[in-house]
Amino acid sequence: MRRPLRLHLETIVALTLVFSPSALALAETTEKDAEQHILQVPNPESYGRHLLYLTEEPHPTGSARNMELADYVRDRFVEYGLENVHFHDTPALLSYGRSASVRILAPVALELDLTEDPHPGDKDSYLYQDSGVVPYHEYAASGVVTGQVVYVNSGSPEDFDKLEELGIGVEGKIVIMRYSMPYSYRGYKVWMAESRGAVGAIIYSDPQDDGYRKGLTYPDGPWGPASHIQWGSIVYDWFGFGVTPFTFHWTQRPDGTWEEGPERDRQLPRIPSIPMSYRSAAEILSRLQGPVAPQDWQGALPFTYRIGPGPATVRLRVENEEVIGTMRNVIGMIRGAEEAEKWVIAGNHRDAWIYGANDPSSGTAALLEAARALGSAARKGWRPKRTIVFANWDAEEDLLGGSTSWVKDNAAKLRTDGVVYINMDSAAAGPDFRAGATPALADFVREVTASIDLPDDSGSLYDAWAKRFEEGVPEVETIVGATDYTAFQEHLGVSCIDISSKGPYGVYHSMYDNYFWMSRIGDPGFRHGTVMSRVMALLLWRMANADTLPLRSSRYAEAVLRHLDEIEQKAAGRRPIKLKEARKAAQKWRDAAGAFENRLDEVLLTETALPAGATRQINDLLMQVERAMTEAEGLDSRPFYKHLIYAPQPTYREEVLPRIFEAIESGAWDEIPRFEAQLVKAFNHAAALLLHAEELLEPRQPRDE
Ligand SMILES: [Zn+2]
Repeated sequence: MRRPLRLHLETIVALTLVFSPSALALAETTEKDAEQHILQVPNPESYGRHLLYLTEEPHPTGSARNMELADYVRDRFVEYGLENVHFHDTPALLSYGRSASVRILAPVALELDLTEDPHPGDKDSYLYQDSGVVPYHEYAASGVVTGQVVYVNSGSPEDFDKLEELGIGVEGKIVIMRYSMPYSYRGYKVWMAESRGAVGAIIYSDPQDDGYRKGLTYPDGPWGPASHIQWGSIVYDWFGFGVTPFTFHWTQRPDGTWEEGPERDRQLPRIPSIPMSYRSAAEILSRLQGPVAPQDWQGALPFTYRIGPGPATVRLRVENEEVIGTMRNVIGMIRGAEEAEKWVIAGNHRDAWIYGANDPSSGTAALLEAARALGSAARKGWRPKRTIVFANWDAEEDLLGGSTSWVKDNAAKLRTDGVVYINMDSAAAGPDFRAGATPALADFVREVTASIDLPDDSGSLYDAWAKRFEEGVPEVETIVGATDYTAFQEHLGVSCIDISSKGPYGVYHSMYDNYFWMSRIGDPGFRHGTVMSRVMALLLWRMANADTLPLRSSRYAEAVLRHLDEIEQKAAGRRPIKLKEARKAAQKWRDAAGAFENRLDEVLLTETALPAGATRQINDLLMQVERAMTEAEGLDSRPFYKHLIYAPQPTYREEVLPRIFEAIESGAWDEIPRFEAQLVKAFNHAAALLLHAEELLEPRQPRDE
């Protein structure tokens, strides 16, 4: 049962002493009123106004427009009654495309088009006309390289292995790869090419993956048209992401200016690389000979894909400018009425490759609507128990910079008082709600969605979500890496939730991810964006206002037991391992958590409140469970990642139980006992936290009122 809200606290305390039942009824009514108010504030008109303003112009990190948008977000936070509204600035190395060309030299001479086509109905689509805008890979090296071309499918580790099997090398060659499955982060594709001696890289969007093979294309449908180009960063973040300052090999002189060091940081690519449309890529791919590419390397272009090398020979010229700029986060808070020191945090990034209507402006608009709802409730006296922090991050697209920098600057505070971080990125591209979370929060997310009614009386969000699953229970996915929750979860051990509403979307990181696409194709009427605003607001409200934090540790332990099975299966093909001790410790954790949760349910059924002072202590213990899943050193290869259960691979694929995962991958079998001992220690610690929490519920002294 939740505690009464502060506005009415004194009244209710007085009433409780005399007329307990009616006071409780009042508290519940108040709570309901507060939630109703919060859910009714976000609306499509207001959401749409934010989205229109946010997507009027391109706004990459460090641009004047992105700074103007920081002012806009700050002004809205102030207008909505948020407190302690401020900027959090950090210098960072940023890179911008200045000019580029790709010319086929043989077997024909042909200059390739590196721009995206305009469409008369979409005023924003004339971006490239005489503007000097250059699609690029951020942090790619500048330079001019010439070479025969080799096709390596998606450039995943498996693809490069296959190429090696076929006896085709890429040394001195220019590699062409597609953005696609098997999935790999674009930066890792380029690094795989670079580390094998390729002199340049091209990554293109195959129509099989996000174009006409999927369905109608822009402007008739959601998929990518022939000229769409996926921009993106290719920073080699796995080499120490977040550990060195965001300025890499640049240092500041005493007079404040910046100087480039003699050696390029190894997180920065050393070869030129460029993104390309399939229309231009087809000109290269159709001129490759050599072996026919394997069946699963064939895309949807109208010819048989071959690997090369050559005869297609290409000259690739890339000029990117690297400058030290400013990452600007915008922070605002709604101060908690009872536990102001505790932070429930909501975040989304603001920077975009171009207009970024879905990614990330739909999330920014929803975050602003959630802030408006909770700010309005606070003004009516419905102030949450804990502080809600709103964060609008910068430089997510470049290097997850804004969120990582803020987490590092606030690490000590977050370790003690960071309750939960809730993230939105590309928030509203379609009707399919999705959530990822630490397993302890999965039930909470499902519960909250059951309280969200969809527009037009079409039932609850939970029902719509559940319908997509055979068993009728929606899956809350595990989350690792690749967006702004990374530093919270994988570096600090703060429990996280990531929410979005997905749909067919083939214009990711291209010019066509713009207001036209969102308002006509992805989210007409801004129905999904409004729903996402409400979900975010209610998640925050309930998390900030819960008596006992809704962290179900038993679910976490159950998930970990499954992960132990999975990792044993992963090893089985090469060398069987049995993680008996870790399993025993995880079972102990699960049992301690189950006992605590059952006892808590009993207590809440029979008593009006927990023993005085116990709730805060219990909540602190529950929060520490996630912290217990981290250790100080981090992964050997990537010390930034300190979480024992979840990490991203350099490809950004999921890596569960990362230390053991990596030991299996590298054949370091004798390291496994050491890593298992780390897990045992963490699980024992978690079990001890839960046992202690249960003790705080016992013994129950007879209450004297
Ligand atoms: Zn994004």
